[in-house]
Amino acid sequence: MKASVITIGDEILIGQVLDTNSQWIANKLHVLGVELVETVSISDTQEAIVNGIDHALSVADLIIVTGGLGPTKDDITKYTLVDYFNDELVLHSEVLEDIKARFKKRGIHFSELNKTQAMLPKKATILPNKLGTAAGMWFEENGKIVISLPGVPFEMKGLIDAEVLPRLKKIGGFPSQVYETYVLYGVGESNAADMLSHFENNLPSFIKLAYLPSPGRLRLRLTGVHQDKFLLEKSIQQLGKELMLVFKDESIIQGDLSYVDFLHQYLTEHKETLSVAESCTGGRIASDLTEKSGASTFFLGGVVAYNALLKQNILGVSKNTIAKFSVVSKEVAQEMVLGIQRLTGSKYAIATTGNAGPSTDDTDEEVGVVFIAIATQNQVIVEQFNFGQPREKVVEQAKNKAFEMLSK
Ligand code: ATP
Ligand code: MG
Repeated sequence: MKASVITIGDEILIGQVLDTNSQWIANKLHVLGVELVETVSISDTQEAIVNGIDHALSVADLIIVTGGLGPTKDDITKYTLVDYFNDELVLHSEVLEDIKARFKKRGIHFSELNKTQAMLPKKATILPNKLGTAAGMWFEENGKIVISLPGVPFEMKGLIDAEVLPRLKKIGGFPSQVYETYVLYGVGESNAADMLSHFENNLPSFIKLAYLPSPGRLRLRLTGVHQDKFLLEKSIQQLGKELMLVFKDESIIQGDLSYVDFLHQYLTEHKETLSVAESCTGGRIASDLTEKSGASTFFLGGVVAYNALLKQNILGVSKNTIAKFSVVSKEVAQEMVLGIQRLTGSKYAIATTGNAGPSTDDTDEEVGVVFIAIATQNQVIVEQFNFGQPREKVVEQAKNKAFEMLSK
C-alpha cells in the first residue's frame, strides 16, 4: 500500500504554521509498514483540493488529508470532498448529540454554526472526534481510501490513533517492521564502522543498520522489514546481542536513551549519587535530571550559585581564587564541583561557570566561554569550551556537554 499525505491550509503556505502533521503521520505510517510516497501542502481552495486529491490518487492508494474541517467559511474540505465523491451531507444525530453534550458539560454556548459540524457525508464512514467538533471522514472508492481529518494536531493525532490505525491494521497485509536502537558512548562513527564491518557484512537482506551520530554518542539502529513478524523479532534480538558483544569493552546500552536517560539508568542501577553546582546553566541541569520520576534515587540536589558571593558562601569557593582567576575560570569550576560534592556527599558532581552573554558582565572571559567540571570519587576533570552565541545555545550546549562528560 502506498500513501500520500495532504495538509491543507494557507497558514502553512505563508509560513505561519509549520506542517508538523505530515511528519507525525509519516512516522505512524512508517511504523505500520505503509510506504509514504509524498507529502504535499496545499491552499484551502476548492481547486487546490481537487487537484491535490486527483494527483494523490494517481500515485497512492491511501490518502490522508488534514485541515479545513472547522465550522467557519474558510474551511471547505468537507464540502469539496462531498462534491468530489458525489456524496451528500446528512445530519448525523449521534455526532450532534455528542457535541451538544460536551458543550453543555463545559458550559459553552452551542451555536447554529456548530450544528454544521454534525452535517456529514452519507456514504463516508464517520470517525468520531472525542477531542473536537470536526469528525473524521473515511471515503472509499475503487479500492482507494481517502481520509479527511481536522488540522488541529492533537485532534488529528487522536483520530489517527483511535480510528484510523485500527482500521488500517484490520485491512492488514503490511509487512512487519521492528527496530531496536543501541547507544554507544565515546566511540566515533568511523571507528564503530570498522569494528562492525564483519557484523554488517553478515546482516540478512531484510535488516539494515543505521548510524546516527551526535557529539559523544552514537546511536546504532537495527531496522527490519519482513512479512514474518516472528522471524523478524527473533533475528533483531539475536543481532542485537551480537552487536552488544562487538562493543563489550565500550559503553553501550540498549534502547534509544538520551544522556539524561542513560545517567538515570546507570546511576540508579549502580546505586550512585549525583549533585550539581550551576552558574551559567541556571538550574537547567538539575531541571533535566529531575524531569523523570525516580530521580530522587540518584540525584541529591544542587545549588544555583549565580552570584560570586554565593559561590563563596555556599560552595566554599575561595575569594582569592575568584580574584586571581575570575569567576569564569577552570579553578572556580573545580572549587565549585568539590564544594557541592562535599556539601552533599554525592559520589559524582557537576559544576558549570561561564559567560552566556550577550555582554561580558563582570568577567574578563569571552562571551560563550564555559568551564565544566566533573567530579568523581577520586578525580576532577575540568574542560573549557567556547559555545559562541546566542545565549540560549550556550546554556543548552553547556548542559548537554556536562551530561556527555559525566556519561563517559
Ligand atoms: P478548526 O476547527 O480549528 O478550524 P480545521 O480542521 O479547520 O480545524 P485548520 O483550520 O486547517 O483545521 O487548522 C486549525 C489549526 O491547526 C491551525 O491554526 C494550525 O495551528 C493547526 N494546524 C493545521 N494544519 C496543521 C499542520 N499541517 N501542521 C501543524 N499544525 C496544523
Ligand atoms: Mg479551520
